[in-house]
Amino acid sequence: MCAKKKTEDAKPAAGKGASGVDYNNPYESMLARFNAAADILKINDRERAILSVPEKVVNVNLPVVMDDGTTQVFEGYRVIHSTAMGPSKGGIRYAMEVHADEVKALAAWMTWKCAVVNIPYGGGKGGIKCNSRALSVDEKERLTRAYAASMSEVFGPDLDIPAPDMGTDGNVMAWIVDEYSKMNNNKYIPAVITGKPLLLGGSKGRTAATGRSVMTTCIQAMEKLKMDPKKSTVAVQGFGNVGSYGALLLEEKGLKVVAISDHKGAYYSPKGFNIKRIFEKYDLRNTIDTWIDKEDKDAKRIDNKAILELDVDVLAPCAIENVITTENAHKIKAKLIVEGANGPTAADADEIIHKQGIMVVPDIVANAGGVTVSYFEWVQNRRGHYYTEEEVNDRADRIIKEAFEAVYQMSKDKKVGMRLAAYLVAVQRVAEAVHLKGKY
Ligand code: NAD
Repeated sequence: MCAKKKTEDAKPAAGKGASGVDYNNPYESMLARFNAAADILKINDRERAILSVPEKVVNVNLPVVMDDGTTQVFEGYRVIHSTAMGPSKGGIRYAMEVHADEVKALAAWMTWKCAVVNIPYGGGKGGIKCNSRALSVDEKERLTRAYAASMSEVFGPDLDIPAPDMGTDGNVMAWIVDEYSKMNNNKYIPAVITGKPLLLGGSKGRTAATGRSVMTTCIQAMEKLKMDPKKSTVAVQGFGNVGSYGALLLEEKGLKVVAISDHKGAYYSPKGFNIKRIFEKYDLRNTIDTWIDKEDKDAKRIDNKAILELDVDVLAPCAIENVITTENAHKIKAKLIVEGANGPTAADADEIIHKQGIMVVPDIVANAGGVTVSYFEWVQNRRGHYYTEEEVNDRADRIIKEAFEAVYQMSKDKKVGMRLAAYLVAVQRVAEAVHLKGKY
């Protein structure tokens, strides 16, 4: 169960690179990339200093009565990295690995992500250090309501708009919108949060939106690389919201999904999995090991890390951060990496991958479909008018395709990899917004 521990406990072991940057620390990794882009763009010291630190860090300790009557205290965070481009936007993560620097890095990534797709938001992120799977539904609800109540001054449709992330879903969003509305004289304020169930003002297309941008950007990258989707294989790490929909939609485009994994195990099937059937037959809230034997007798269990090193055309890491590091980057055989997860590649592994000639669709582009459709949800809530799924998908595809092209063009113009190109597009826009807002 989720006993409160010191934040430092969850930090990965330090591993400083030659530059003195601790690449195991996600915030330092983010800063290394930001600084590389800021150097090329010659961002002045003022904007650089402002964007190097979060605007606001809120840290709460939440006492929650557990089902057995005991009280446990959980650490919660909300970090606002930047509101230069608009109210901060970003998910809430429930995981044991949640710690301050992780949430700070994720908040900054949201700033760059919203900027690269050019939607009018800044970046924020939240998290609670807990094992979401070990909580009963009632415990999770009490914890969520305690978090929402403690953040009632932080959240707001024009202030800070959360969404789901790892370990949270539409149900959690429903409790948050309810708690927030209760704290505001029972006025229903759906635009305070996105990723809500449809009945409570959610948007059609939101559930599949992140996997969908993994698919659209993958297909765009394959066109640039002259790869034929119908003759290509893909390995998908992580079979949660992003990975499962990413796999399903890539399969629809003709790619053969030969490997899938979750935190319990990785599976390889050279003939390819039937992802559509898997969606129809199994409850995907359960781990892969509960249904894989029924589904595919030939599927071979492989080491969880080996999924990254398979001889496939496309690799889609859609689970957690820092899985591609200096230790395994040179073993990657895929020609294309599409980052469904946030931060799956440690910053010091970028160069190794670039030198191998592997194209990377970076996280802030590949998984930006989620925040893009979250933006549509917020717009629909405020207008009280709702789009069809087709309208949502068409609008999101257009935004994602434009962002990919802008980043691809930047990478050609500046002769840099796609990751740095994405940061160049994003940092330029945010720094300009900071500049336009002036000083006091
Ligand atoms: P999720 O909780 O639905 O799924 C996460 C999946 O990763 C699960 O299948 C889990 O078992 C698996 N996993 C965890 N640790 C693993 C490991 N060590 N090896 C292999 N698999 C492992 O989460 P999600 O919403 O799909 O998010 C996945 C990633 O995508 C996160 O980095 C998240 O920040 C990012 N992301 C999510 C969204 C969204 O809309 N959900 C949007 C943008 C980015």
